[in-house]
Amino acid sequence: MTETSIKTALVVSAHSADFVWRAGGAIALHQQQGYQVHVVCLSFGERGESAKLWRKGEMTEEKVKQARRSEAQAAADILGASIEFFDMGDYPLRADKEALFRLADVYRRIQPHFVLTHSLHDPYNYDHPMATNLAQEARIIAQAEGYRPGEKIIAAPPVYCFEPHQPEQCHWKPDVLLDITSVWDKKYAAIQCMAGQEHLWEYYTRVAQQRGVQAKRNVGITAARDIIYGEGYQSIFPRVTEDLS
Ligand SMILES: [Zn+2]
Repeated sequence: MTETSIKTALVVSAHSADFVWRAGGAIALHQQQGYQVHVVCLSFGERGESAKLWRKGEMTEEKVKQARRSEAQAAADILGASIEFFDMGDYPLRADKEALFRLADVYRRIQPHFVLTHSLHDPYNYDHPMATNLAQEARIIAQAEGYRPGEKIIAAPPVYCFEPHQPEQCHWKPDVLLDITSVWDKKYAAIQCMAGQEHLWEYYTRVAQQRGVQAKRNVGITAARDIIYGEGYQSIFPRVTEDLS
């Protein structure tokens, strides 16, 4: 297989579990289709999304980070994705120029065919739109001929925002429903790696079932099949196509 024939995807996750709840199906599905999927976790969610671990007592930030890293690595292994951790801290997640360039360099290295990240707004969690902004800005830098001249720039990969916890408050409205029925077992196995957030396992099962029903209701003539589980996405850019079916 030549370098250009390998399809790739990049997932930018604010905290170490977000990519599992919100994009685990897309990751497993595309991995099965031959894509190399790479996940960047900007932080471990050590402060904001690890309540159960902190309640155990005798915890330090380092111990929580280590536990979260192990969970995320196990989930990525199940989904078939490579993963790296930027360890930028959470609550608040803040990026300096170096972090931005580090992410731009990941874009250059991966040359993604599409990108998955958070919603543009989230009044419950400032780290999530911060991650989206970073993913977007790094994408633009990686497209610039003047950034590290001589390197291969990236094209314009579509960016899809994955589903936030409370879509209405985040002004998030799906325009893509992905059928993840064939990989649901993998996604649920990955979800179960998130021992620190067991309260969300069934919640995100229900979300997938809801999106599955909606996908079935909207399915076109070319893909008439039994959909049970789905994931919703909101695209940022117009889709370029020669086939409207
Ligand atoms: Zn998060």
